Amino acid sequence: MDLVATAPRLPGPGETVLGTGFATVPGGKGANQAIAVARAGAACGFLGAVGSDGFGATMRGTLSGAGVDVGLLRSAPGPSGVALITVDTGGENTIVVAPGANGTVVELTEPELAAIAGADLLLCQLETPVSTVGAAATHARAHGTRVVLNAAPAASLPADLLACVDVLVVNEHEAAIVAGVSDGVLDTLLRSVPAVALTLGAAGATYATRLDGAVTVPAPRVNAVDTTAAGDAFTGAFVVALAEGRPHDEALRWACAAGALCATRPGASTALPMRREIDELFANG
Ligand code: ADP
Repeated sequence: MDLVATAPRLPGPGETVLGTGFATVPGGKGANQAIAVARAGAACGFLGAVGSDGFGATMRGTLSGAGVDVGLLRSAPGPSGVALITVDTGGENTIVVAPGANGTVVELTEPELAAIAGADLLLCQLETPVSTVGAAATHARAHGTRVVLNAAPAASLPADLLACVDVLVVNEHEAAIVAGVSDGVLDTLLRSVPAVALTLGAAGATYATRLDGAVTVPAPRVNAVDTTAAGDAFTGAFVVALAEGRPHDEALRWACAAGALCATRPGASTALPMRREIDELFANG
């Protein structure tokens, strides 16, 4: 859950600043991407945990209301994962993420492992412990479930996790951190994973593979007002198109349409586009 306060300026250490507004906004990369997948038209189940507080109940309701299967979503005693966000009038922010229940997902259960084995595709982010993400990806690989990893928030990743990834989805900042270099980032990543989808903001996205090199598609030109969750919209739509067996360049263009639509609206999960909207911008954009 994102707890967002607005203030004339960000407080310094030990300082209290009188704020101008406050909102609780369902968020988290996993939740946003699950909702993006459901809205883009695929059946989607969510693995992870909410806390036993009121935010947990709200997050569960938000996910199921969006059509995400929450049958295996755990409720862990204690707080839900929250992000405490302060935004100043210039749009600058500070964020503290307290993982809460997300940090309790350390051992996958039999039903969770069965769901991974039975899925067409496993999409992971890094807001649950990296060792758990690694265990999920290893299990998926062993059962022929394709693995897409959105390496956000950015972190350097263990080789055994990268060895199970079919497609890595990253923005430019995340790409450099995962690669651990600032030049030759794509080539470096392609030594660890067979394919990379690199998002480039308004410039679109690049899909690069070891075998076929890189193709870049532009994003549709839109009137962007808030790019929050644009990466989540892109990632969700991209995996739906991949699961449907669409060619990579088409999947990339369709995902760019989803990201661009998200950028035209304020907010995060509420800004994620529906399949018919993505189809329409894809056809005309
Ligand atoms: P993130 O939000 O993770 O940093 P990006 O900013 O790269 O990711 O955005 C993800 C995708 O959303 C881009 O690849 C692009 O398709 C779309 N997008 C983002 N910003 C814009 C924009 N201003 N205009 C059009 N499309 C955009």
